[in-house]
Amino acid sequence: MKKTEPIIAVHGGAGTPNKNELNKEKESAYLNDLQTALLKGYEILQSGGIAEDAVVEAVKVLEDSPLFNAGRGSVFNSEGQHEMDACFASGENRKTGAIAGITRVRNPIVLARLVAEKTPHVFLSGPGAQKFAEISGVELMPDEWFFSTHRFQQWQDARKLEEIWLDHGEKKFGTVGAVARDKLGRLAAATSTGGMTNKRFGRVGDTPIFGTGTFADNKLCAISCTGHGEYFIRYVVAHQVASAMQYGRLNLQEAAWNVLNGILLEDGGEGGLIAIGPQGDPVLAFNCAGMFRAWVDTQNNFHASIF
Ligand code: ASP
Repeated sequence: MKKTEPIIAVHGGAGTPNKNELNKEKESAYLNDLQTALLKGYEILQSGGIAEDAVVEAVKVLEDSPLFNAGRGSVFNSEGQHEMDACFASGENRKTGAIAGITRVRNPIVLARLVAEKTPHVFLSGPGAQKFAEISGVELMPDEWFFSTHRFQQWQDARKLEEIWLDHGEKKFGTVGAVARDKLGRLAAATSTGGMTNKRFGRVGDTPIFGTGTFADNKLCAISCTGHGEYFIRYVVAHQVASAMQYGRLNLQEAAWNVLNGILLEDGGEGGLIAIGPQGDPVLAFNCAGMFRAWVDTQNNFHASIF
């Protein structure tokens, strides 16, 4: 394998953040957690670690932050629970693992990786995934860990309006993910989410579905998506990007832009993605007002922004 510069990018959800709501203090709190996650992953890559470890460790930092809609900061579903989805994808032989509809797990991304590494399966959901969490030794937390007044109020507001909210509009910011390329050019992606506020019990979004919200293949790209999951599933977004590269001969930037701003947006699907290919800088693209994101480029420059 050819040696490359290690690269990592992370996101904390895309959408239309309310600029009035997002004061300077809050903005820097979000950016600070994104940079901490980025650095955590980057240090692993710099010291010769593998892309798989870098994305999982970066996502763990964001799952532990109450600011993002994943792990600790997960939104409430219609039953007042936190049902979480996550997917781990390695570019090596498309090794992937996912879980959906789990509760009480501190770091769902760790459980998703265990599905890939300790079971013959790719995707566990609901009670079976929960049982796997209990026997696999991942850290389980009491309900209080996932409670915040802000999230509770969000749920009450959504319930009153009988709506289901993407955690991206006014007052709401979302899902987390990471993509990385290590020194040997191996790629990996990880995505984790609490889904949508007031979502129906049992609803699964794009995040844990390989090829829609998360994807990795060393020869093509690693992708982590964020946005309105139902649309991302219908348009198989991550795999569309990879296919546009493989069969349409587009580069990663063009492929991502075309998918997000073409069929997806035409149908009303709002969101974004972060992606990395076998060479070059990461791509961070979105078809809405902003995406919480941080990345390091091939010149070792660090960046973090929202809009
Ligand atoms: N894509 C996630 C879902 O639909 C939500 C998000 O990205 O915030 O579950």
